[in-house]
Amino acid sequence: MCDNVRGCEAARPLRLAAGVANSLAMPLLSSDALVLRTYTLGETSKIVVLLTRERGKLRAVAKGARGRRSRYQSALEPLSEVKVTLYGRQATELYRLGQCELLRSAFPASRHGLDAALALSYFAELIDAFCPDGEAEDAVYRLATAVLAAAGEGRSAGMLSRYLEAWLLRLSGLYPPLDRCSGCGGALPGSGELRYHAAAHGFVCASCGPASGPILGAAVRALLLDVFRHPPSAVAEASAGEAELEAFQQELIGRHIERPLRSRRVLLDVASGAALAAEGRPGKRA
Ligand SMILES: [Zn+2]
Repeated sequence: MCDNVRGCEAARPLRLAAGVANSLAMPLLSSDALVLRTYTLGETSKIVVLLTRERGKLRAVAKGARGRRSRYQSALEPLSEVKVTLYGRQATELYRLGQCELLRSAFPASRHGLDAALALSYFAELIDAFCPDGEAEDAVYRLATAVLAAAGEGRSAGMLSRYLEAWLLRLSGLYPPLDRCSGCGGALPGSGELRYHAAAHGFVCASCGPASGPILGAAVRALLLDVFRHPPSAVAEASAGEAELEAFQQELIGRHIERPLRSRRVLLDVASGAALAAEGRPGKRA
């Protein structure tokens, strides 16, 4: 404890200044990254949640990012791909954003209509929910950028959503195998329906049944094989099994994520509003 309070107070700014100067001199990390979301910090700054290629998900303060003449401008829009330099101590919870150069904007994808724009919010929230802090996962980064590129080409927002869900679940070890019974470990038939059994956390063979369900039809199975074998730009645009697959994957996601995703709720509200409008009835407002 210092008994010369004024002396300590006077010395502190100098020490802080030296610390800031040191941390500014040498970036801790330079990496390609996707902007997942931002939130405001005080009057002028933002906190940016980034999925970096080198260090996985992390948070950084973007000083002055809310100002009209911010040097970051559109680089901090959700799902922009950027090259960032970050300052701060190793394994800190909050870095400081230095340079942030825009490599690819998500704007071209959002121009393909409301569904595409809503899907982008969903992609960002889903990736955020599946990525733990500070764990680099190059496969997730490559998945996200491939899905964004396909969205920019105007590929179906629904199919890209199913693609991203399927792969995030699989990369997290949460997708049950399609070719092996989760009850006895034996091979599943190579075609036909897939019978999910909740107690086994997977698809089961006929002798391990009866399955609790859902039962995924042959069209869903074909769609899943398509998803797991091809890049998102090469998956069929429309599939009979998409709605069935969506319901199944939402169930798997719901078990993994505690809170329902906000963007998912918006998507459902817009879809039900559009359905009501098509029937000539006004949409119910929440
Ligand atoms: Zn079995």
